[in-house]
Amino acid sequence: MREDRHNPLRALPAVDEVLRRAASDEILAGCPRVLAREAARQAVEELRRRLAAGRETGSREDIASLAVQLTLEYAAVLARVNLRRVINATGVVLHTNLGRSPLAEEALGAVARVAGGYANLELDLATGRRGSRYQAVEGILTRLTGSEAALVVNNNAAAVLLALGTLAAGREVVVSRGQLVEIGGSFRIPDVMAASGAVLVEVGTTNKTYQRDYARACGERTALLLQVHTSNYRVVGFVHETSTGELVELGRERGLPVMCDLGSGSLVDLAAWDLPGEPTVPEVVAAGADVVTFSGDKLLGGPQAGIIVGRRELVERMKKNPLTRALRIDKMTAAALEATLRAYLDPDRALVEIPVLRMLTMDPAALRQRAQELADAIGRRIKPGQVALVEGISRVGGGALPLAELPAVLVELTPYGASAAEVQRRLREGPVPIMVRVQEDKVLFDPRTLLPGDGELLAEQVAQVMGGDGSCGP
Ligand SMILES: *Cc1c(COP(=O)(O)O)cnc(C)c1O
Repeated sequence: MREDRHNPLRALPAVDEVLRRAASDEILAGCPRVLAREAARQAVEELRRRLAAGRETGSREDIASLAVQLTLEYAAVLARVNLRRVINATGVVLHTNLGRSPLAEEALGAVARVAGGYANLELDLATGRRGSRYQAVEGILTRLTGSEAALVVNNNAAAVLLALGTLAAGREVVVSRGQLVEIGGSFRIPDVMAASGAVLVEVGTTNKTYQRDYARACGERTALLLQVHTSNYRVVGFVHETSTGELVELGRERGLPVMCDLGSGSLVDLAAWDLPGEPTVPEVVAAGADVVTFSGDKLLGGPQAGIIVGRRELVERMKKNPLTRALRIDKMTAAALEATLRAYLDPDRALVEIPVLRMLTMDPAALRQRAQELADAIGRRIKPGQVALVEGISRVGGGALPLAELPAVLVELTPYGASAAEVQRRLREGPVPIMVRVQEDKVLFDPRTLLPGDGELLAEQVAQVMGGDGSCGP
C-alpha cells in the first residue's frame, strides 16, 4: 500500500488487460483489432499522464474501469469510417466540398456491375483484341456534342493540362487578360499553363479584349488560341469579350487551333429554366472550336472526370501523349460516365434521372411541397412554433453559373437555448452529418438538395439536437 502511494503509476493496467475487460462490449466487437489495441494504448497513455500529474486517483480497480471506458470512447471514434455520407441541406447543388454531383441510379448500377468483377475496359469483344479505354464513352460523346473525337481524363484540370501540353509545349498560347482565372484549389490558368510547358501570352485588358488584340499577338511561335469560360465570376458593365466564333475566324485565317475550356460544360440549355444562358458544349463545337474541355461532375451531373472533345487529329495526338496514361480514368468512372451520358440520349429522361438536372429544374410548386413536408416532419418532433417556411435562394455552386439565383422555399428553424451556429455544429457532428445554412441566428434547410429519404432522417436528427422540448438542452 505504501508503494502505491509513492508510485501512482502502479495502479495503471496493462493494455492487454484493458482489452480483455472491454472485449465484451459491442463497440469493441465492431472495431477492427488493430484499432481496438490502438484505442486501449491511447487510454492507458492518457491515464499514465493523469496519474503522474496527480489528476487521477483511485484504487487499481477504479483506474482499470476508467481505462475500459476511455478505450470504448476512443474505439468508437477510430472505428468510424472517414469518408461518410452527408446530407446536403444547403441548397448548393454542386458543392465541391461535398463531392459535387450525386450520381444517377443508372450510374450507380453501372459502377456496381463492373467494379466488383471484370469488365471489357480495354478489350474489344468483337475481335478479342486489346481495345481502347475510351471506347465506352467516345461514341456517345461525339454524338451528343457533334465533335469528331473524344477523350476522358481524371478531371478538367487534367484535361486542360493535357491539351496544352500536347498542343502547345514550348510554344505560345494567347489568352485574354479577362480570362486568367483561378478556379479554386490552386487551379490558376497561368500556373497550369506553366506546368504544361506552354508560354502564356496575355492580350487585351481585364474588361475588354477584341479579336484584333489576339490577332496582334499571333506570330511564329503561336500554337493555340485559348478561351477560358470564366465560370465562377462575371465582369459586368463596360465589357467586351471576343466570341468563340470570332476566335475561330482568326484561327482559321492564321492556321491556329482554338481551344475552349468551358469548365462546367452543360449539354442542355438551362436558359429554359430561368438559369443564366451558358454556351453549351454542342454550341461551342458548332461554333468551330477545335478542342473543348469540361468537367464530368459539374453541370453534366456525372462522376469526376475531364472530358475533351474536338477535332480527331488533335484528340489523337493527346491520346498518344504519355501523360494521358498518368491521367487516365478507371473502370468505375468509365461506367458511371457512360451511364450518365446515355441518359442524355433522351433529354427528357436526363432531366428526371440525373440528380443535378432534377435539382436545378425543380418547379416552384414541387419545391414548396417538399419544404412543407420537411417543415411538418420537423414540426411533429419539436416544440410548436419553431419552424416556418421562408422564401430564399438556392445556388448552383461548384464555380458554375455564379450569378444564378434559384428561387427557393426554405425551412427556417428558430432555436432556443443554443445559437443557430451551435445547432449547425451539432448537426454536422451527428451520426449522419447534416450541412445547413445559418442566417441571422436561424437555421435554414433547403429541400432542393435533399435526396429521397433524407427528409425523415434530417427531422429525426434535428429533434435529437433540439431535445424533445426544443430547448437544445443536453
Ligand atoms: C471547374 C473548372 C476547371 C477545373 O475542373 P475540375 O474538373 O474541377 O478539375 C477548369 N476550368 C474551368 C473554367 C472550370 O470552371
